[in-house]
Amino acid sequence: MKTIGVIGAGTMGNGIAQAAAQAGYHVILNDLNEAFLDKGMQAIKKNLDRALSKGKIYEKEVADTLERIKSTTTVDDLREADLIIEAIIEKMEPKKALFKHLDSICPPSTIFASNTSGLSITELGTSTARPEKVIGMHFFNPVPVMKLVEMIRGYETSDETFETIKQLVEVLGKDPISVSDSPSFVVNRVLVPFINEAIFVLGEGVATAEDIDKGLKLGANHPIGPIALADLIGLDTLLFIQEGLYQETSDSKYRPAPLLKKLVRAGHLGRKTGQGFYTYTK
Ligand code: NAD
Repeated sequence: MKTIGVIGAGTMGNGIAQAAAQAGYHVILNDLNEAFLDKGMQAIKKNLDRALSKGKIYEKEVADTLERIKSTTTVDDLREADLIIEAIIEKMEPKKALFKHLDSICPPSTIFASNTSGLSITELGTSTARPEKVIGMHFFNPVPVMKLVEMIRGYETSDETFETIKQLVEVLGKDPISVSDSPSFVVNRVLVPFINEAIFVLGEGVATAEDIDKGLKLGANHPIGPIALADLIGLDTLLFIQEGLYQETSDSKYRPAPLLKKLVRAGHLGRKTGQGFYTYTK
């Protein structure tokens, strides 16, 4: 594998492009327009400069990494990639339309990966004539720092595709876990209902936000309490994942906490809006 295509230069896409280029791959980064691409490239440059100033990398690595990334608004330029990782919006239909188009322009050997946080890899695979070459690669934010990649097997994903991607994940300096296609995979499936439960506890008046967080930090050795973590992740993102689990499984154990819905409806989304369960001053 020499060339990796990345579609979507946002939060995740630019991190994935950076990780791949730093590992020595040629990267073709695609987004809808030049402004999105510029923003993504600036984020990569800023990240590399920060690593340089901390003495984690040499100046040559910064230049070499940037040189390995070509950016383009023409998705068809990705047809020369050996692997294409999509990191566009978290919606099934645009992702399927993209895979369908890629399937029509790429050689049969190209592997398609999705960085989806929880959509079905099996369903994405059905939009192509190569479902055995479609796989989930769920990176975590921020990509250059976080070690985990959940590798998701769709119903038709072949062992060969899985092994090829597993080796790549390791070359990227990441640590994979193997997951079969299931709503929200492993980490979000466990983490988000846990946070949701903490919000139920808060909403029922069992304890204050401060005491819930202190309880989980001191009693379960968590580095951050669930209420503070909710504000950090973003309450809209949490509600989206929790509602997805609820709708997909029809299991009442996944019903979103009313207090979570209330805050999202009020526009209090956590750190990013300055107000969530806690108040943040900039
Ligand atoms: P983002 O909004 O930061 O970036 C998405 C980018 O995709 C934007 O720049 C947008 O212009 C571009 N885009 C949209 N449609 C496109 C198309 N058809 N072709 C090319 N580019 C297109 O989003 P993000 O947070 O980077 O999330 C991307 C994916 O990664 C989603 O599936 C999300 O669920 C997943 N994910 C996000 C996180 C996270 O913490 N943000 C973590 C893991 C996985």
